[in-house]
Amino acid sequence: MSTAAVATRSHQIFERAKLVIPGGVNSPVRSCKSVGAEPTFMDHADGASLFDVDGNKYIDYVGSWGPMILGHRHPRVLEAIETTLKQGTSFGAPCRAEVEMAELICKLMPSIEMVRMVNSGTEATMSAVRLARAFTKRSMIIKFDGCYHGHADSFLVKAGSGLATLGISSSPGAPEEITKLTLSIPFNDPAALKKAFEAHSKEIAAVIIEPIVGNSGLILPAENYLSTVRELCTEHGAVLIFDEVMTGFRVALGGAQDRYKIKPDLTCLGKIIGGGLPVGAYGGRKDIMQMVAPEGPVYQAGTLSGNPLAMAAGIAQLKSLQTHGTYPHLEQTTSRLADGLKGLSKSMQVVSVPGMLGVFFSSKPVTDFESAQKCDTEHFAKVWRALLEKGVYWPPSQFESAFISLVHTKNDIDNTIEAFKDALK
Ligand SMILES: *Cc1c(COP(=O)(O)O)cnc(C)c1O
Repeated sequence: MSTAAVATRSHQIFERAKLVIPGGVNSPVRSCKSVGAEPTFMDHADGASLFDVDGNKYIDYVGSWGPMILGHRHPRVLEAIETTLKQGTSFGAPCRAEVEMAELICKLMPSIEMVRMVNSGTEATMSAVRLARAFTKRSMIIKFDGCYHGHADSFLVKAGSGLATLGISSSPGAPEEITKLTLSIPFNDPAALKKAFEAHSKEIAAVIIEPIVGNSGLILPAENYLSTVRELCTEHGAVLIFDEVMTGFRVALGGAQDRYKIKPDLTCLGKIIGGGLPVGAYGGRKDIMQMVAPEGPVYQAGTLSGNPLAMAAGIAQLKSLQTHGTYPHLEQTTSRLADGLKGLSKSMQVVSVPGMLGVFFSSKPVTDFESAQKCDTEHFAKVWRALLEKGVYWPPSQFESAFISLVHTKNDIDNTIEAFKDALK
């Protein structure tokens, strides 16, 4: 830390924060620890920009980790929140907006016949697994190394995102009695999945997967990989859960399942469907979802679930995304950035899908968690700090993907490419 940085407002707030919040932050990656920096405390945001408490402006590629696909303070989302606010903030009784949200989700993702709203992605995945276990009357689940499904005990086995960033493969406090029911195997390796199923055929309740991995950096599924996963689940009677908390309504209106034309049994959602407010959802086949209480015996509840403000923001955001030309535009902006970054350095791998982009410092393509872990994260940290200096707020970990919004301009993208050029020197 330079002496100049020490005098910043951000630093002063961080000093206070550390006394009363573990690590000074409410979610680990935000601490910027792994890139050798202190967190930058933000003051406000607008469009594709973030403004910190010291008056610096940044081009934002974190996008609140996914929700801000329309950019910050989108007029339609703000208006929906403001209008709803006048009617109250929570009823503890059902409201019309919850039904509208459910109808919208079922329409946009046809594999979802019924859906239950929750308050975070973590709740969505945790509840989906409980449901799959009840439905199959089995206990084990399969996940993939480097995939992140929130912080419930069952998923803290070789997990991506913050765990990968901090270099911890699992967490103390997650009992072995629970984590031993989770098999974690390499992504993009059909033989490993076949083997796991053969060893535990009648015990696997569910396979949970990020169809596009966004929590080890960005890793795309190999050709036909997802269809093999689908076939093996069907063959062995396991519930296939697509965790589309990150990819839902981002990589396509219908999510990764639409992009790759695979029909999962259950889908987990979050991030974008809340328009920046805390929301998650899980849904899918009617025969499975009907087991959720009060229609069925599988318990799951939430004091603030289906919160009217969150529903209003999410509905406004989803409706805006339905506008013609949204996804081609997102694809164009993403490609402009990807094309500009490719070729800047032989040792930088650039991976992208519409709305998401990842860089790895490696001479070889990254196909799974193991290859992601072999990349030069020290170099990433150096580049990250240089980008921040130049006004680019990139996700502060190689094990996260960057998010491109619909309001990043050509100018933003070109400035970002220039900043990378300098940062790579
Ligand atoms: C963010 C994320 C989660 C967890 O969502 P939270 O709202 O942070 O609990 C789960 N799965 C995936 C794929 C995610 O990207």
